[in-house]
Amino acid sequence: MNNILDKAEYTCSGCGACHAVCPVKAIKLKKDDYGFFVADIDENRCISCGLCKTVCTRYDQSLNGVNLLNGGLYALRSSDQPTVKNCSSGGIASELAEYGISKGYKVTGVCYDLENNIACHKTASTVEEIKEFAGSKYLQSNSQIFREAIKEKGFIFGTPCQIAGLHKVLSEWRKRNDFILIEIFCHGVPSYKLWDEELKLISKKLGSNQFDSLQFRYKKYDWHMYCIKTEKNGKIYYGEREKDLFWQVYFEDMLLSEACYNCRFRKENSYADIRLGDYWGRKYSDDSKGVSAVFCMTENGRKIIGDLIHNDKVIELEKTSNEEMLQYQNMKGYQHGELHKEVLERLKNCDDINKVIEYYHSKLPVKRKIKGILLKLSSIIPGSLRYTIKKNIKI
Ligand SMILES: Cc1cc2nc3c(=O)[nH]c(=O)nc-3n(C[C@H](O)[C@H](O)[C@H](O)COP(=O)(O)OP(=O)(O)OC[C@H]3O[C@@H](n4cnc5c(N)ncnc54)[C@H](O)[C@@H]3O)c2cc1C
Repeated sequence: MNNILDKAEYTCSGCGACHAVCPVKAIKLKKDDYGFFVADIDENRCISCGLCKTVCTRYDQSLNGVNLLNGGLYALRSSDQPTVKNCSSGGIASELAEYGISKGYKVTGVCYDLENNIACHKTASTVEEIKEFAGSKYLQSNSQIFREAIKEKGFIFGTPCQIAGLHKVLSEWRKRNDFILIEIFCHGVPSYKLWDEELKLISKKLGSNQFDSLQFRYKKYDWHMYCIKTEKNGKIYYGEREKDLFWQVYFEDMLLSEACYNCRFRKENSYADIRLGDYWGRKYSDDSKGVSAVFCMTENGRKIIGDLIHNDKVIELEKTSNEEMLQYQNMKGYQHGELHKEVLERLKNCDDINKVIEYYHSKLPVKRKIKGILLKLSSIIPGSLRYTIKKNIKI
């Protein structure tokens, strides 16, 4: 479609900023042929006012965030054990959401929509409602609710591209100070075509893809493992990183959005008040419960984290330097750019995603192939034993 947002140098990340400001509701976030939500303009409704272009970060090369090296870093864990167990790392996102509600803000976060099997932003006004936001959903979320969420003061969680888009909208509207923007470190989001394949595999085991519950980072043995847990009528499926198709493809950086491969926002500059991540690295390699790395990027961010510590909502643990923490995150980018492009094109027209994955593997350098084979071999070992070996031998 030839529309007002077509000429951008970068691919649309589906952040939702244009959708949030369009005065005539001409924009929808729609899944494209590659399996990603992108902005889709209805030409018949569009009045060419250009507001969408004003807030689209793809047209703003001068957008300057704050460098994470200058942020105030904390190593934190919620003081509530069930919260830590339910969340991906230290449960700080849940503590922040509860803090927002207690101060009279609306809180917008991401839930897993069990009916449509997608990740979706929602707005909550009660402590009960924020429970759905606990735990990372490793999928691109549909952020259409931003349009409503930016109408009143709020805490908003999102990926760095979503937060950069919101920062731009709110700054244009001179409303940035009414909002606390919280972003996560982001590895990127995989195509829904991969998720659909995963759903097919899970439904073979559980008899249906209309699950009763779904968690992406169930801490089966400890925080360091990645394990999907889904339930249907009392039957449970566990998808561990070493065995599960979804995780294997995700951690090979395969089938992420083109926007993720070229993303400027997941790197060292932040537009948020707070950035959250897993405190990976040597310091907490023996910790089994989970520790969050929390970067306070603004005065508002510092004040909120200070309050949570002061009120014993979170426990402050020993931190490393900012540089050391960041060493364990992928801050640079992705290798094999041309291959990713080619594979995404194959994905667009494919009727069997497994052929695309096979093709990708066949083109990888030998070192990467060996790594993949080793990972596959390790899946033969029972999970609990693998966990004990890893813990003691420190692979
Ligand atoms: C797609 C994705 C990629 C990630 N990549 C990394 C990484 O490379 N390195 C790293 O250290 N951490 C990464 N994280 C963040 C990590 O999983 C934890 O969210 C973080 O450690 C904070 O943990 P927590 O226990 O405080 O919060 P959690 O319990 O994980 O809560 C996460 C918060 O983020 C929001 N959220 C959940 N899913 C999404 C989504 N799909 N899109 C936007 N917002 C969402 C929720 O509203 C919730 O408030 C990623 C998360 C996601 C969703």
